[in-house]
Amino acid sequence: MLDLNILSEQTVAMPDAAYQARHFINGVFVDSADGQKLDRVSPSHGIVVSQAALGSETETQAAIKAARAAFDDGRWSSLAAKERAAVLYRVADLIEQNEERLAVMETLESGKPISQSRGECGGAADLWRYAASLARTAHGDSHNTLGADILGVVVKEPIGVVSIITPWNFPFWILSQKLPFALAAGCTCVVKPSEMTPSTTSMLGEILVEAGLPAGVCNIVLGLGTPVGSLMTTHDDVDMVTFTGSTAVGKMITKSSGETLKKVALELGGKNPQVIFPDADLENAADAVTFGVYFNVGQCCNSSSRIIVHEDIADAFVERVVALSRKVVFGNPMHPDTQVGAIVTEDHKAKIDGYIKDAISAGAEICIGGQVLDVPGLGDQFYQPTVVRGVTPDMAIAREEVFGPVLTVLTFKTFDQAVALANDSTYGLSAGVWSENVHTCLEFCRRAQAGTVWTNTWMDGFPELAFGGMKQSGQGREIGRYGFEEFLEVKSLVMRIGRTRAPWVKTD
Ligand code: NDP
Repeated sequence: MLDLNILSEQTVAMPDAAYQARHFINGVFVDSADGQKLDRVSPSHGIVVSQAALGSETETQAAIKAARAAFDDGRWSSLAAKERAAVLYRVADLIEQNEERLAVMETLESGKPISQSRGECGGAADLWRYAASLARTAHGDSHNTLGADILGVVVKEPIGVVSIITPWNFPFWILSQKLPFALAAGCTCVVKPSEMTPSTTSMLGEILVEAGLPAGVCNIVLGLGTPVGSLMTTHDDVDMVTFTGSTAVGKMITKSSGETLKKVALELGGKNPQVIFPDADLENAADAVTFGVYFNVGQCCNSSSRIIVHEDIADAFVERVVALSRKVVFGNPMHPDTQVGAIVTEDHKAKIDGYIKDAISAGAEICIGGQVLDVPGLGDQFYQPTVVRGVTPDMAIAREEVFGPVLTVLTFKTFDQAVALANDSTYGLSAGVWSENVHTCLEFCRRAQAGTVWTNTWMDGFPELAFGGMKQSGQGREIGRYGFEEFLEVKSLVMRIGRTRAPWVKTD
């Protein structure tokens, strides 16, 4: 029997009934015209925890029409930024007031621990407040040096109607990385959450009404990638698509939205390395590696799913991570002490297990875990903390996004080798370096091909700092000033002062 820290007890109360999630179109909550619904069975508890309207082209068309009308008549984009900001600040307050309700639903639909859901849902209020603060900064620039008779002014305008498509791993957080920034810019939106985690997005609709967002400015359609998501990326009346999810779907969206040349912002996968040098604070590094791989059961674009560790310290370091892995609390997500919960679906669990089996057949060695985990009273939609050694850079487990609690170990001898291994990936989302030598850290930061590089830490994030990927991890940036700018269009105004323009057509 594997010696792990499993918690099956539950202290957080279950809701009385399954939440009824409905579309939010033009300010009104509606069911699907054909009455279709989708049940969400909790990955941890195996019971139906929500029933969501299953949208079709009818609801998607209606939502896009409402967003287009709301943008074109200026009910939101023409408001003073101060007034838009005031609505976003109210949303932030209401998110905090609703934190527990949101968190319980997030946990039951996704399987993640309640403490994490509380942090994510309550913490998202800060993203809304930061976006509100940016609303009043959307200024351009002026050119007063173009000649005595010319004044040039560059203004920023909202890009228009934005389709927002979000995944199941951080439903409320990822929505809050996009929606408030689009709204702060003056855009109107159509949102589609993953069909596996629709409810907290629908609950946000209730909050938007209470905060006084005008009808039609944010519309929510619940349903599947096809037909809902695909129509949101091809419709003539949509100006921009912002998507978080798999690289495969991201590529499809780039193609489908290319027909109408929409702007596309993509936040996709990662195979994020942490590089550990022998002079690092190894205790701290081992803890951060353990956190980086098991947080959200590894179902995280920022998962530090690979470590690249100096060969002199590799054995001791891996031993340390394995020892910590035994202490991490896996189990019932409805207990505040649980650190790692359930896998989102049976299919996804099978995918994780497939990577492990393939790695074993290719000669890799399992240091801990490598199997499905049965939590007493809850069943087996869980996976053991897993560390895999003897991995070569060509193995699928070392290259592809496993999206599970699985750490692969690679080793290096020289600094150049470490950098080469870190960059040997089609992805470029994030990377980390551990060393007490500032020169080693700085050199690594400069050479790492990643949108974020952490030095002696992992996964610290702030609304002020742009987030996004290089290479096939995406395009564009989210949050921070750069994320806000994605939702703005640039327009140049050229103004002649006086009647000095020489005629082009000779009339005499
Ligand atoms: P997807 O990329 O399929 O789903 C993400 C979102 O896109 C969902 O809302 C989905 O809808 C929607 N979608 C699917 N197809 C289309 C389409 N043709 N047009 C528009 N929208 C579409 O991720 P999965 O859930 O299938 O996860 C698969 C893998 O993706 C994971 O194993 C992981 O490797 C990666 N992933 C990465 C994430 C990240 O944070 N970067 C997040 C989630 C997954 P619906 O599912 O409701 O049909």
